[in-house]
Amino acid sequence: MPHPYRKTNFMETTKCLIIGSGPAGYTAAIYTSRADLNPILYQGIQPGGQLTITTDVENFPGYPNGVTGPELMEDLRKQAERFGTDVRSGIVTAVDLSKRPFLVTVDDNKQLLAETLIISTGASANWLGLESEKKFQGMGVSACATCDGFFYRNHDVCVIGGGDTATEEASYLANLCNKVYLIVRRDELRASKAMQRRVLNHPKIEIIWKHKPKEILGDNSGVTGILLHHSDTNVERKLDVTGVFVAIGHTPNTTLFHEQLELHPEGYIKTIPGSTRTSVDGVFAAGDVQDLHYRQGITAAGTGCMAAIEAERFLQEQD
Ligand code: NDP
Repeated sequence: MPHPYRKTNFMETTKCLIIGSGPAGYTAAIYTSRADLNPILYQGIQPGGQLTITTDVENFPGYPNGVTGPELMEDLRKQAERFGTDVRSGIVTAVDLSKRPFLVTVDDNKQLLAETLIISTGASANWLGLESEKKFQGMGVSACATCDGFFYRNHDVCVIGGGDTATEEASYLANLCNKVYLIVRRDELRASKAMQRRVLNHPKIEIIWKHKPKEILGDNSGVTGILLHHSDTNVERKLDVTGVFVAIGHTPNTTLFHEQLELHPEGYIKTIPGSTRTSVDGVFAAGDVQDLHYRQGITAAGTGCMAAIEAERFLQEQD
């Protein structure tokens, strides 16, 4: 059945366009579909978002036996489609938020108009850029301790980075693991003082100062160690660990919105506290693209629900 959109001057128009297909985007799609907004969702570069690169997800409510990331995202997509969301593959390559309806360009060659926009383009974890890091992703290399830490109960692991994320991940892992090495490339931490105190005084956390990863070591069973080198002297050092948690920052996917929406200095979209409203009326942001603190699938889904309800109310106010 064709999707029931309206046409204005031959250009496709939708009441609600959702950008991104992580838990935030699909949850916004489920709610806006059920509210008869007939949303169109563009999946973006990585259909299903960051969860498609994790293996088991055990902390998403409703799955007592856990679920794999790809399966969870497939379920969310099917649920959105069941209520009529028009899920499309395609990358939004430009937006004009200067007037409503908003002009959205897809794949550089198709344009459509959206009365409301829900941005759920997520954030991407920064990686070290080592070949071995790619090779062992999901087999000992992770960018999320809350997602994957459980699998390393009583193991020796390491966390790379010296910011708030790395120190939080190290503290979290120290509650589960036998030993946690925190590998910091300088001789000081970037993290807040409170987080610094937590890792500096923790009996299970050992900070390896002034070292950078050179290679992640492993075999068919996964990671078996990490080779480091001293930041100044290049002298190598090997650690026997089965898990490597990379926590060197995230980059929110907001390039499209620079100069158009208010952003935090770190690049995340600013929302009005307690809501998903952005600095432009009719534009809502949900999930990791606006989240500096939690970055969980379930919090993304929660804000996706908020964005949908706010978009619906916004449209009602315009009538
Ligand atoms: P940050 O950018 O703050 O820290 C990144 C860390 O990784 C730095 O220590 C940096 O080293 C190190 N690093 C970067 N690249 C490399 C590399 N190639 N090799 C080795 N180390 C590297 O990122 P975070 O994700 O920690 O934090 C992002 C923002 O989110 C911050 O503003 C933070 O305060 C906030 N946040 C807040 C939390 C909270 O309030 N609960 C929790 C988590 C994050 P260097 O210092 O040398 O640059």
